[in-house]
Amino acid sequence: MKSIMQTEKKCYLCGRTQGLDKHHVFMGRKHRPLSEKYGLTVWLCNDFTPTRCHKQVHEGEHAEALQDALHRKGQEAFEEVHGNREDFMRIFDRNYL
Ligand SMILES: [Zn+2]
Ligand SMILES: [Zn+2]
Repeated sequence: MKSIMQTEKKCYLCGRTQGLDKHHVFMGRKHRPLSEKYGLTVWLCNDFTPTRCHKQVHEGEHAEALQDALHRKGQEAFEEVHGNREDFMRIFDRNYL
């Protein structure tokens, strides 16, 4: 499914429009395909330099905080588009809000 978190193809964090990767907001073997299914994906810039946003989200100094912020935004978007909190928790196994 198309992202329900952003409409424009640009880095979700910094707005760059070049060198973009699709990032799955909920990760891991179980949740990554569900992120894809429900459109919980964002574009993040990546040109293989350590300062770029995709790298920051996965392994930067503030990776945990960035992932947490994206989890909350993702759950909000889910609840606007797909269902209520109970639905979200049934599918993604926890509540981030
Ligand atoms: Zn960026
Ligand atoms: Zn990613």
